[in-house]
Amino acid sequence: MLQISELTKTYATGDTALSEVTLDVPEGQIVGLIGPSGAGKSTLIRCINRLVEPTAGQIQLGRVDLATIGHRELRRQRRRIGMIFQEYSLVERLTVMENVLSGRLGYVPFWRSFTRRFPPEDIQRAYQLLDRVGLMAQADKRADALSGGQRQRVGIARALAQQPELLLVDEPTASLDPRTSRQIMRLITEICVEQRLPAIINIHDVPLAQQFVQRIVGLHAGRIVFDDHPAALNDAT
Ligand code: ADP
Ligand code: ADP
Repeated sequence: MLQISELTKTYATGDTALSEVTLDVPEGQIVGLIGPSGAGKSTLIRCINRLVEPTAGQIQLGRVDLATIGHRELRRQRRRIGMIFQEYSLVERLTVMENVLSGRLGYVPFWRSFTRRFPPEDIQRAYQLLDRVGLMAQADKRADALSGGQRQRVGIARALAQQPELLLVDEPTASLDPRTSRQIMRLITEICVEQRLPAIINIHDVPLAQQFVQRIVGLHAGRIVFDDHPAALNDAT
């Protein structure tokens, strides 16, 4: 599904954040990315959707090499990739429903009536997603009226609204308390299993990763230093 080969990123500052990283993620697999601060986790996630430009290597999503395609093609390919961020990045003045539908749109609309442009099946699907993440009753509330956990649930529904083939998740629980963090990780990983959706989750909380993912990849100084079942991590350390 996703095949990353010899991916290298050297920033303009001369920092090499990734050194020839090779990683295959098969369909339906949930990968937890761990490692100390500065290991290259964010850079890896951001190279996959090209928020960061790779210096060398391939990022094959199905038949497309995301690392080398031009910007027009990139816009199309990004629709295949759902993103869930640490800071939710919801549009505050829009409702929950409008935020979810903006995922289908692929960009943030700045006018209020944009939901009318969606066919009924898109609206219905958005309601199904809100139901799945437990926010049906909040559909018409403004995003800025929600708690942190609720906001991340909107982020999850929005990422899924675009019907992605791959989910990239960057520190989804960094702003949440431990109990809410577990709920959010459970929700993300359950949905990935239900939909056979492969995911890469950048998560610095190792016990949380171990509890919910199927495979752990450990990065250190831009290289993969661990790649195994979560249980094997205890033997390695
Ligand atoms: P992590 O997510 O594991 O904390 P990062 O990918 O953020 O690691 O960073 C990896 C390395 O790349 C670090 O040395 C960091 O300082 C460097 N780095 C990250 N972003 C930039 C940037 N925009 N410009 C220069 N160096 C960067
Ligand atoms: P994260 O929490 O994802 O690891 P950081 O807090 O390390 O991110 O970095 C925040 C922002 O600063 C990111 O956009 C990252 O690319 C950038 N950054 C990180 N390290 C450097 C660096 N050494 N030089 C320039 N920019 C950096």
